[in-house]
Amino acid sequence: MRALVLDRPGSFRVADVPDPAPRPAEIVVKVDCCGVCGTDMHILAGEFPPTPYPIIPGHEFAGQVVARGTGVAQDLPDGTRVAVDPSLYCGWCRQCRAGRGNLCEHWGAIGDTVSGAFAEYVAVPAVNAYRLPDHIGGQYGAMAEPLSCAVHGIRRLGPVASDAVVVVGAGTMGLLLLQLLLHAGAGPVAVVDRVPGRLDVARRLGAAQAVTDASALDGARFDAAVDATGAPEAIETAIGLLGRGGRMLVFGVSPADATIRVSPFRVYNDELTIVGSMAVLRSFGAAVDMLASGAVDPRPLLGEPLPLEGFGAAIDHVRAGEGIKWHIRPS
Ligand SMILES: [Zn+2]
Ligand SMILES: [Zn+2]
Repeated sequence: MRALVLDRPGSFRVADVPDPAPRPAEIVVKVDCCGVCGTDMHILAGEFPPTPYPIIPGHEFAGQVVARGTGVAQDLPDGTRVAVDPSLYCGWCRQCRAGRGNLCEHWGAIGDTVSGAFAEYVAVPAVNAYRLPDHIGGQYGAMAEPLSCAVHGIRRLGPVASDAVVVVGAGTMGLLLLQLLLHAGAGPVAVVDRVPGRLDVARRLGAAQAVTDASALDGARFDAAVDATGAPEAIETAIGLLGRGGRMLVFGVSPADATIRVSPFRVYNDELTIVGSMAVLRSFGAAVDMLASGAVDPRPLLGEPLPLEGFGAAIDHVRAGEGIKWHIRPS
């Protein structure tokens, strides 16, 4: 099969590699679409410590079942259309046994620590596959993974009904979080992003205000703030926008050695809460359901999928802030 192979940080090529064979309890999925994500950029740059090289990246994907290993208990005949939760949890460490598999001490993920879906085929644990309804195409299905991260984030933030919320960052994650916040009854929701085109999408999706700089929010104070950038300055700004009793969700991925300045007096005196959200936790099925019901509409985020050879172009588009979500269609 053809696949995108990262031989080492900074070096990728489309290559012919052996087709994957399903091990016990695995299925093989013929990949329809796989999203390009910030994590892929970190893996490409050699900035994602769990990743071994060479690797076939790609963890946001959907496709069709084409083979089963022994011991697959689910009813997944050939042709079943599925989205796949890339999470690989050990199941026996302290965190897994406490129900926090996303914090697993032996955490792994398809496309991050083992071969992923920038390839014609990928072998995955059958239990990670979620059936897609007929009206959800492969590109929509590939949005289940980022949406499942957003669902986990909103659960971490807690109830938001009638809360004024500011979302910093209107990329894929910011715009999915915006939709989930509105669906959960938050409002008004303001969005901050430097890219004006993204603010237009945010307005179309229901943002009450969409501005290029937080200073344009006229000193408004918010009950909750969500950072979907990972930029330390943006997180400091977002905390500064919180009113008393405010809650901050740190969703974006900062550099591991970054720090922010927070006033401990404000945390004490204003009873601020700062929570983090890491990847997917029992939220993948909810994401598939919300795509299926139309509660979340990924369409404004999507462009035309590119072939495997378009990976470099997709990376360039992401770096240049062009478009929102880029997908690769391997065959
Ligand atoms: Zn991702
Ligand atoms: Zn574990």
